[in-house]
Amino acid sequence: MDKKLIEESAKYLMHTYNSHPIVLRKGRGMNVWGDDGTEYIDFVAGIAVNCLGHCHPKVVIAIQKQAQRLLHVSNLYHMEPQIKLAGFLVKNSFADRAFFCNSGTEAVEAAIKLARKYSKEHLSPQQYEIITAYGSFHGRTMASLSATGQERLQKGFEPLLPGFKHVPFNDIGALKKALSRRTCAVLIEPIQGEGGIKMPSKDYLLQVRQFCDENRLVLIFDEIQTGIGRTGKMFAYEHYGVEPDIMTLGKGLGGGVAIGAMLAKERIATAFEPGSHGSTFGGNPLACAAALATLHALIEDGFIMEQCRHTGEYFRNKLLGLQKDFPSLILEVRGLGLMIGMELTKAGSFVVDACAARGMLINCASGNVLRFIPPLIVTERDIDLLVDVLDDIFEKHSH
Ligand SMILES: *Cc1c(COP(=O)(O)O)cnc(C)c1O
Repeated sequence: MDKKLIEESAKYLMHTYNSHPIVLRKGRGMNVWGDDGTEYIDFVAGIAVNCLGHCHPKVVIAIQKQAQRLLHVSNLYHMEPQIKLAGFLVKNSFADRAFFCNSGTEAVEAAIKLARKYSKEHLSPQQYEIITAYGSFHGRTMASLSATGQERLQKGFEPLLPGFKHVPFNDIGALKKALSRRTCAVLIEPIQGEGGIKMPSKDYLLQVRQFCDENRLVLIFDEIQTGIGRTGKMFAYEHYGVEPDIMTLGKGLGGGVAIGAMLAKERIATAFEPGSHGSTFGGNPLACAAALATLHALIEDGFIMEQCRHTGEYFRNKLLGLQKDFPSLILEVRGLGLMIGMELTKAGSFVVDACAARGMLINCASGNVLRFIPPLIVTERDIDLLVDVLDDIFEKHSH
Protein backbone atom coordinates (compact mmCIF):
# COMPACT_ATOMS: atom_id res chain seq x y z
CA MET A 1 0.00 0.00 0.00
CA ASP A 2 1.09 3.55 -0.71
CA LYS A 3 2.23 4.76 2.75
CA LYS A 4 3.00 8.23 1.43
CA LEU A 5 -0.53 8.67 0.10
CA ILE A 6 -1.99 7.67 3.46
CA GLU A 7 0.32 10.20 5.17
CA GLU A 8 -0.92 12.86 2.78
CA SER A 9 -4.47 11.87 3.62
CA ALA A 10 -3.73 12.48 7.32
CA LYS A 11 -2.10 15.79 6.46
CA TYR A 12 -4.55 17.35 4.01
CA LEU A 13 -8.00 15.95 4.72
CA MET A 14 -10.26 16.95 7.59
CA HIS A 15 -10.32 14.01 9.94
CA THR A 16 -14.01 13.16 9.63
CA TYR A 17 -13.56 9.46 8.88
CA ASN A 18 -11.56 6.74 10.55
CA SER A 19 -10.56 5.23 7.24
CA HIS A 20 -8.83 1.87 7.04
CA PRO A 21 -5.20 2.09 5.92
CA ILE A 22 -6.21 0.77 2.49
CA VAL A 23 -6.06 2.66 -0.79
CA LEU A 24 -8.66 1.35 -3.24
CA ARG A 25 -7.95 1.88 -6.88
CA LYS A 26 -10.15 -0.40 -8.95
CA GLY A 27 -13.47 -2.20 -8.76
CA ARG A 28 -15.34 -4.75 -10.83
CA GLY A 29 -18.51 -6.60 -9.82
CA MET A 30 -18.14 -7.88 -6.25
CA ASN A 31 -14.41 -7.08 -6.07
CA VAL A 32 -12.23 -4.08 -5.34
CA TRP A 33 -8.45 -3.97 -5.49
CA GLY A 34 -5.98 -2.06 -3.35
CA ASP A 35 -3.07 -0.18 -4.89
CA ASP A 36 -0.78 -3.04 -3.83
CA GLY A 37 -2.90 -5.48 -5.82
CA THR A 38 -4.72 -6.97 -2.83
CA GLU A 39 -8.13 -8.28 -3.87
CA TYR A 40 -11.15 -7.79 -1.63
CA ILE A 41 -14.71 -9.05 -1.75
CA ASP A 42 -16.83 -6.02 -1.00
CA PHE A 43 -19.78 -6.50 1.37
CA VAL A 44 -19.97 -2.75 2.03
CA ALA A 45 -20.68 -1.57 -1.53
CA GLY A 46 -19.93 2.06 -0.70
CA ILE A 47 -22.59 1.82 2.06
CA ALA A 48 -25.40 0.27 0.03
CA VAL A 49 -24.55 2.33 -3.06
CA ASN A 50 -23.09 -0.02 -5.68
CA CYS A 51 -26.24 -2.11 -6.01
CA LEU A 52 -25.17 -3.65 -9.35
CA GLY A 53 -21.58 -4.14 -8.20
CA HIS A 54 -18.61 -2.01 -9.18
CA CYS A 55 -18.40 -0.47 -12.64
CA HIS A 56 -21.41 -2.29 -14.09
CA PRO A 57 -20.91 -2.10 -17.88
CA LYS A 58 -24.40 -0.71 -18.56
CA VAL A 59 -23.86 2.12 -16.07
CA VAL A 60 -20.33 2.84 -17.30
CA ILE A 61 -21.47 3.04 -20.93
CA ALA A 62 -24.43 5.29 -20.05
CA ILE A 63 -22.06 7.65 -18.22
CA GLN A 64 -19.55 7.66 -21.09
CA LYS A 65 -22.26 8.41 -23.66
CA GLN A 66 -23.83 11.16 -21.55
CA ALA A 67 -20.43 12.70 -20.75
CA GLN A 68 -19.79 13.11 -24.46
CA ARG A 69 -23.21 14.65 -25.09
CA LEU A 70 -24.07 17.00 -22.19
CA LEU A 71 -22.77 17.17 -18.61
CA HIS A 72 -24.72 20.01 -17.12
CA VAL A 73 -27.29 22.66 -17.91
CA SER A 74 -29.51 24.56 -15.53
CA ASN A 75 -32.97 23.43 -14.44
CA LEU A 76 -34.08 26.54 -16.32
CA TYR A 77 -34.18 24.12 -19.28
CA HIS A 78 -35.57 20.63 -19.82
CA MET A 79 -33.24 17.63 -19.90
CA GLU A 80 -34.20 14.26 -21.31
CA PRO A 81 -32.40 11.97 -18.77
CA GLN A 82 -34.04 13.81 -15.85
CA ILE A 83 -37.53 13.58 -17.33
CA LYS A 84 -37.09 9.88 -18.23
CA LEU A 85 -35.81 9.12 -14.73
CA ALA A 86 -38.76 10.89 -13.11
CA GLY A 87 -41.12 8.94 -15.37
CA PHE A 88 -39.48 5.65 -14.43
CA LEU A 89 -39.69 6.35 -10.70
CA VAL A 90 -43.30 7.50 -10.91
CA LYS A 91 -44.37 4.46 -12.98
CA ASN A 92 -42.63 2.08 -10.57
CA SER A 93 -43.76 3.57 -7.25
CA PHE A 94 -46.70 5.04 -5.32
CA ALA A 95 -45.61 8.55 -6.30
CA ASP A 96 -46.84 11.06 -8.90
CA ARG A 97 -43.89 13.45 -9.06
CA ALA A 98 -40.15 13.58 -8.41
CA PHE A 99 -37.67 16.23 -7.31
CA PHE A 100 -33.95 15.57 -7.79
CA CYS A 101 -30.97 16.57 -5.66
CA ASN A 102 -27.44 15.27 -5.10
CA SER A 103 -27.47 13.25 -1.89
CA GLY A 104 -29.62 11.53 0.68
CA THR A 105 -29.56 14.34 3.19
CA GLU A 106 -30.74 16.80 0.55
CA ALA A 107 -33.64 14.51 -0.28
CA VAL A 108 -34.62 14.56 3.40
CA GLU A 109 -34.31 18.37 3.50
CA ALA A 110 -36.62 18.56 0.49
CA ALA A 111 -39.11 16.19 2.14
CA ILE A 112 -39.14 18.26 5.34
CA LYS A 113 -39.71 21.47 3.39
CA LEU A 114 -42.48 19.97 1.27
CA ALA A 115 -44.29 18.44 4.27
CA ARG A 116 -44.16 21.73 6.15
CA LYS A 117 -45.29 23.86 3.22
CA TYR A 118 -48.13 21.47 2.37
CA SER A 119 -49.36 21.37 5.98
CA LYS A 120 -49.13 25.13 6.53
CA GLU A 121 -51.11 25.81 3.38
CA HIS A 122 -53.65 22.97 3.52
CA LEU A 123 -54.09 22.34 7.24
CA SER A 124 -53.00 25.15 9.52
CA PRO A 125 -50.08 27.60 9.75
CA GLN A 126 -49.19 26.20 13.20
CA GLN A 127 -48.55 22.68 11.92
CA TYR A 128 -44.85 22.19 11.32
CA GLU A 129 -43.68 19.57 13.80
CA ILE A 130 -42.31 16.28 12.48
CA ILE A 131 -42.15 13.12 14.57
CA THR A 132 -39.19 10.81 13.93
CA ALA A 133 -37.75 7.76 15.67
CA TYR A 134 -34.90 7.28 18.12
CA GLY A 135 -32.05 5.41 16.49
CA SER A 136 -32.94 6.85 13.10
CA PHE A 137 -30.49 8.35 10.63
CA HIS A 138 -31.63 10.96 8.13
CA GLY A 139 -28.41 12.76 7.20
CA ARG A 140 -25.86 15.34 8.31
CA THR A 141 -27.18 18.73 7.21
CA MET A 142 -28.90 20.74 9.93
CA ALA A 143 -32.56 19.81 9.33
CA SER A 144 -31.78 16.16 8.60
CA LEU A 145 -29.49 16.06 11.62
CA SER A 146 -32.23 17.58 13.79
CA ALA A 147 -34.59 14.88 12.47
CA THR A 148 -32.05 12.16 13.24
CA GLY A 149 -32.75 10.45 16.57
CA GLN A 150 -29.16 10.01 17.77
CA GLU A 151 -27.69 12.44 20.30
CA ARG A 152 -24.13 11.29 19.66
CA LEU A 153 -24.34 12.68 16.09
CA GLN A 154 -25.94 15.96 17.19
CA LYS A 155 -23.57 16.79 20.02
CA GLY A 156 -21.64 20.01 19.48
CA PHE A 157 -23.89 21.28 16.71
CA GLU A 158 -26.64 22.80 18.84
CA PRO A 159 -28.88 24.67 18.55
CA LEU A 160 -30.68 22.11 16.43
CA LEU A 161 -33.63 23.12 14.31
CA PRO A 162 -36.87 23.30 16.27
CA GLY A 163 -39.89 21.29 15.16
CA PHE A 164 -38.75 17.70 15.64
CA LYS A 165 -39.97 15.24 18.23
CA HIS A 166 -38.47 11.78 18.74
CA VAL A 167 -40.23 8.60 19.81
CA PRO A 168 -39.05 5.00 20.24
CA PHE A 169 -39.10 3.02 16.96
CA ASN A 170 -41.68 0.24 16.81
CA ASP A 171 -43.88 1.75 19.53
CA ILE A 172 -47.21 2.91 18.12
CA GLY A 173 -48.40 3.99 21.59
CA ALA A 174 -45.47 6.40 21.94
CA LEU A 175 -46.20 7.83 18.50
CA LYS A 176 -49.85 8.46 19.42
CA LYS A 177 -48.77 10.16 22.64
CA ALA A 178 -46.40 12.48 20.78
CA LEU A 179 -49.21 13.95 18.64
CA SER A 180 -49.90 17.64 19.21
CA ARG A 181 -51.69 20.52 17.49
CA ARG A 182 -48.39 21.30 15.83
CA THR A 183 -47.70 17.85 14.33
CA CYS A 184 -47.61 17.80 10.53
CA ALA A 185 -45.74 14.65 9.56
CA VAL A 186 -44.11 11.39 10.58
CA LEU A 187 -40.69 10.63 9.09
CA ILE A 188 -39.45 7.08 9.42
CA GLU A 189 -37.08 4.52 7.89
CA PRO A 190 -39.04 1.31 7.13
CA ILE A 191 -35.95 -0.53 8.41
CA GLN A 192 -33.40 1.47 10.39
CA GLY A 193 -30.02 1.22 8.66
CA GLU A 194 -27.29 3.23 10.38
CA GLY A 195 -29.11 2.58 13.67
CA GLY A 196 -28.12 -1.10 13.37
CA ILE A 197 -30.58 -2.81 10.96
CA LYS A 198 -33.61 -2.47 13.24
CA MET A 199 -36.68 -4.20 11.81
CA PRO A 200 -40.24 -2.94 12.25
CA SER A 201 -42.60 -5.38 13.95
CA LYS A 202 -45.18 -6.97 11.64
CA ASP A 203 -47.93 -4.35 11.87
CA TYR A 204 -46.00 -1.25 12.91
CA LEU A 205 -45.81 0.52 9.54
CA LEU A 206 -49.50 -0.21 8.88
CA GLN A 207 -50.38 1.26 12.28
CA VAL A 208 -48.27 4.33 11.51
CA ARG A 209 -50.11 4.74 8.20
CA GLN A 210 -53.50 4.51 9.95
CA PHE A 211 -52.39 6.98 12.60
CA CYS A 212 -51.32 9.45 9.90
CA ASP A 213 -54.60 9.01 8.01
CA GLU A 214 -56.70 9.56 11.14
CA ASN A 215 -54.82 12.76 11.99
CA ARG A 216 -54.22 14.06 8.45
CA LEU A 217 -50.45 13.82 8.84
CA VAL A 218 -47.99 13.40 6.00
CA LEU A 219 -46.19 10.05 6.11
CA ILE A 220 -42.60 10.22 4.88
CA PHE A 221 -40.57 7.06 4.34
CA ASP A 222 -36.82 7.53 4.22
CA GLU A 223 -35.85 4.73 1.79
CA ILE A 224 -32.38 6.08 1.08
CA GLN A 225 -30.86 2.83 2.34
CA THR A 226 -33.77 0.38 1.95
CA GLY A 227 -34.73 1.46 -1.59
CA ILE A 228 -33.54 0.40 -5.08
CA GLY A 229 -33.88 -3.35 -4.61
CA ARG A 230 -31.90 -3.57 -1.37
CA THR A 231 -34.55 -5.59 0.48
CA GLY A 232 -35.52 -7.77 -2.50
CA LYS A 233 -38.21 -5.41 -3.78
CA MET A 234 -37.70 -2.05 -5.47
CA PHE A 235 -38.83 -0.27 -2.29
CA ALA A 236 -39.10 -1.71 1.21
CA TYR A 237 -42.66 -0.38 1.71
CA GLU A 238 -43.83 -2.98 -0.84
CA HIS A 239 -43.13 -5.72 1.72
CA TYR A 240 -45.46 -4.17 4.26
CA GLY A 241 -48.50 -3.27 2.14
CA VAL A 242 -48.18 0.37 3.16
CA GLU A 243 -47.56 3.40 0.95
CA PRO A 244 -46.10 6.70 2.15
CA ASP A 245 -47.07 10.17 0.90
CA ILE A 246 -43.45 11.22 0.42
CA MET A 247 -40.35 9.06 -0.05
CA THR A 248 -36.66 9.92 -0.09
CA LEU A 249 -34.09 8.06 -2.18
CA GLY A 250 -30.31 8.24 -2.48
CA LYS A 251 -27.45 5.76 -2.06
CA GLY A 252 -28.14 2.98 -4.63
CA LEU A 253 -30.16 5.19 -6.97
CA GLY A 254 -27.22 6.28 -9.12
CA GLY A 255 -25.41 2.92 -9.13
CA GLY A 256 -22.33 4.70 -7.76
CA VAL A 257 -22.96 8.28 -8.93
CA ALA A 258 -24.17 10.96 -6.50
CA ILE A 259 -27.91 11.58 -6.79
CA GLY A 260 -30.86 11.95 -4.44
CA ALA A 261 -34.60 12.09 -5.06
CA MET A 262 -37.74 13.07 -3.22
CA LEU A 263 -40.97 11.57 -4.54
CA ALA A 264 -44.50 12.55 -3.55
CA LYS A 265 -48.20 12.11 -4.21
CA GLU A 266 -49.77 14.76 -6.44
CA ARG A 267 -51.89 16.28 -3.65
CA ILE A 268 -48.75 17.06 -1.66
CA ALA A 269 -46.31 17.72 -4.51
CA THR A 270 -48.35 20.72 -5.69
CA ALA A 271 -47.33 22.62 -2.54
CA PHE A 272 -44.01 23.19 -4.35
CA GLU A 273 -44.33 25.89 -6.99
CA PRO A 274 -41.71 27.59 -9.16
CA GLY A 275 -39.23 29.17 -6.75
CA SER A 276 -40.15 27.03 -3.72
CA HIS A 277 -37.10 24.80 -3.85
CA GLY A 278 -34.18 24.07 -6.12
CA SER A 279 -30.66 22.81 -6.64
CA THR A 280 -27.96 23.81 -9.12
CA PHE A 281 -26.82 20.26 -9.81
CA GLY A 282 -30.00 18.40 -8.85
CA GLY A 283 -31.19 16.23 -11.70
CA ASN A 284 -28.17 16.93 -13.90
CA PRO A 285 -27.98 14.79 -17.07
CA LEU A 286 -24.89 12.81 -16.01
CA ALA A 287 -26.29 11.60 -12.68
CA CYS A 288 -29.73 10.95 -14.18
CA ALA A 289 -28.28 8.92 -17.07
CA ALA A 290 -26.39 6.78 -14.53
CA ALA A 291 -29.53 6.32 -12.41
CA LEU A 292 -31.66 5.46 -15.43
CA ALA A 293 -29.15 2.81 -16.57
CA THR A 294 -29.03 1.40 -13.02
CA LEU A 295 -32.82 1.13 -12.75
CA HIS A 296 -33.17 -0.36 -16.23
CA ALA A 297 -30.56 -3.00 -15.44
CA LEU A 298 -32.31 -3.76 -12.16
CA ILE A 299 -35.70 -4.21 -13.85
CA GLU A 300 -34.57 -5.78 -17.13
CA ASP A 301 -32.42 -8.31 -15.34
CA GLY A 302 -35.49 -8.82 -13.11
CA PHE A 303 -33.78 -11.80 -11.60
CA ILE A 304 -31.40 -9.50 -9.70
CA MET A 305 -34.10 -8.61 -7.17
CA GLU A 306 -35.41 -12.18 -7.06
CA GLN A 307 -31.87 -13.45 -6.61
CA CYS A 308 -31.38 -10.86 -3.87
CA ARG A 309 -34.29 -12.37 -1.92
CA HIS A 310 -32.78 -15.86 -2.25
CA THR A 311 -29.17 -14.96 -1.50
CA GLY A 312 -30.38 -12.77 1.38
CA GLU A 313 -32.20 -15.75 2.87
CA TYR A 314 -29.18 -17.99 2.28
CA PHE A 315 -26.92 -15.38 3.91
CA ARG A 316 -29.16 -14.99 6.98
CA ASN A 317 -29.35 -18.77 7.45
CA LYS A 318 -25.57 -19.05 7.29
CA LEU A 319 -25.21 -16.26 9.87
CA LEU A 320 -27.82 -17.94 12.09
CA GLY A 321 -25.62 -21.04 11.87
CA LEU A 322 -22.73 -18.98 13.22
CA GLN A 323 -24.97 -17.69 16.01
CA LYS A 324 -25.61 -21.31 17.08
CA ASP A 325 -21.87 -21.93 17.24
CA PHE A 326 -21.00 -18.69 19.04
CA PRO A 327 -24.00 -17.83 21.24
CA SER A 328 -21.90 -15.84 23.70
CA LEU A 329 -20.65 -13.54 20.91
CA ILE A 330 -23.71 -13.20 18.67
CA LEU A 331 -26.94 -11.79 20.05
CA GLU A 332 -29.13 -11.64 16.97
CA VAL A 333 -29.21 -11.90 13.18
CA ARG A 334 -31.84 -9.80 11.42
CA GLY A 335 -32.65 -8.13 8.12
CA LEU A 336 -34.48 -8.35 4.85
CA GLY A 337 -33.07 -9.14 1.42
CA LEU A 338 -29.45 -8.01 1.35
CA MET A 339 -29.71 -5.61 4.27
CA ILE A 340 -28.51 -7.78 7.12
CA GLY A 341 -27.29 -7.05 10.62
CA MET A 342 -25.56 -9.28 13.14
CA GLU A 343 -25.68 -7.89 16.63
CA LEU A 344 -22.70 -8.83 18.78
CA THR A 345 -22.35 -8.79 22.54
CA LYS A 346 -19.37 -6.43 22.13
CA ALA A 347 -17.99 -3.75 19.80
CA GLY A 348 -17.60 -5.16 16.29
CA SER A 349 -14.57 -3.22 15.03
CA PHE A 350 -12.19 -6.11 15.79
CA VAL A 351 -14.20 -8.28 13.38
CA VAL A 352 -14.21 -5.57 10.68
CA ASP A 353 -10.42 -5.20 10.95
CA ALA A 354 -9.77 -8.95 10.96
CA CYS A 355 -12.03 -9.34 7.93
CA ALA A 356 -10.18 -6.60 6.02
CA ALA A 357 -6.88 -8.36 6.75
CA ARG A 358 -8.40 -11.48 5.17
CA GLY A 359 -9.69 -9.72 2.05
CA MET A 360 -13.29 -9.17 3.15
CA LEU A 361 -14.76 -5.70 3.44
CA ILE A 362 -17.61 -5.47 5.96
CA ASN A 363 -18.91 -2.63 8.05
CA CYS A 364 -20.15 -2.02 11.57
CA ALA A 365 -23.20 0.09 12.42
CA SER A 366 -23.94 1.66 15.82
CA GLY A 367 -20.92 0.06 17.49
CA ASN A 368 -21.87 -3.58 17.87
CA VAL A 369 -23.87 -4.53 14.77
CA LEU A 370 -21.97 -6.04 11.86
CA ARG A 371 -23.71 -4.76 8.75
CA PHE A 372 -23.80 -6.65 5.46
CA ILE A 373 -25.04 -4.57 2.50
CA PRO A 374 -23.25 -6.13 -0.49
CA PRO A 375 -24.01 -5.51 -4.15
CA LEU A 376 -27.26 -7.28 -5.05
CA ILE A 377 -25.28 -9.53 -7.42
CA VAL A 378 -23.46 -11.26 -4.52
CA THR A 379 -23.32 -15.05 -4.97
CA GLU A 380 -23.66 -17.93 -2.52
CA ARG A 381 -19.96 -18.60 -3.10
CA ASP A 382 -19.02 -15.06 -2.00
CA ILE A 383 -21.19 -15.56 1.09
CA ASP A 384 -19.59 -18.95 1.86
CA LEU A 385 -16.13 -17.36 1.66
CA LEU A 386 -17.12 -14.57 4.07
CA VAL A 387 -18.84 -16.92 6.51
CA ASP A 388 -15.72 -19.13 6.61
CA VAL A 389 -13.62 -16.08 7.48
CA LEU A 390 -16.11 -14.95 10.15
CA ASP A 391 -16.19 -18.48 11.58
CA ASP A 392 -12.42 -18.44 11.86
CA ILE A 393 -12.32 -14.98 13.48
CA PHE A 394 -15.01 -15.90 16.03
CA GLU A 395 -13.30 -19.24 16.74
CA LYS A 396 -9.94 -17.57 17.44
CA HIS A 397 -11.60 -14.88 19.51
CA SER A 398 -13.40 -17.36 21.78
CA HIS A 399 -10.09 -19.00 22.73
C1 LIG B 1 -27.24 7.38 4.20
C2 LIG B 1 -28.58 7.82 4.64
C3 LIG B 1 -28.95 9.17 4.60
C4 LIG B 1 -27.99 10.28 4.19
O1 LIG B 1 -27.57 10.14 2.87
P1 LIG B 1 -26.28 11.01 2.38
O2 LIG B 1 -26.23 10.73 0.90
O3 LIG B 1 -25.10 10.50 3.13
O4 LIG B 1 -26.57 12.42 2.68
C5 LIG B 1 -30.23 9.51 4.99
N1 LIG B 1 -31.11 8.56 5.38
C6 LIG B 1 -30.80 7.24 5.41
C7 LIG B 1 -31.83 6.24 5.81
C8 LIG B 1 -29.52 6.83 5.06
O5 LIG B 1 -29.19 5.53 5.13
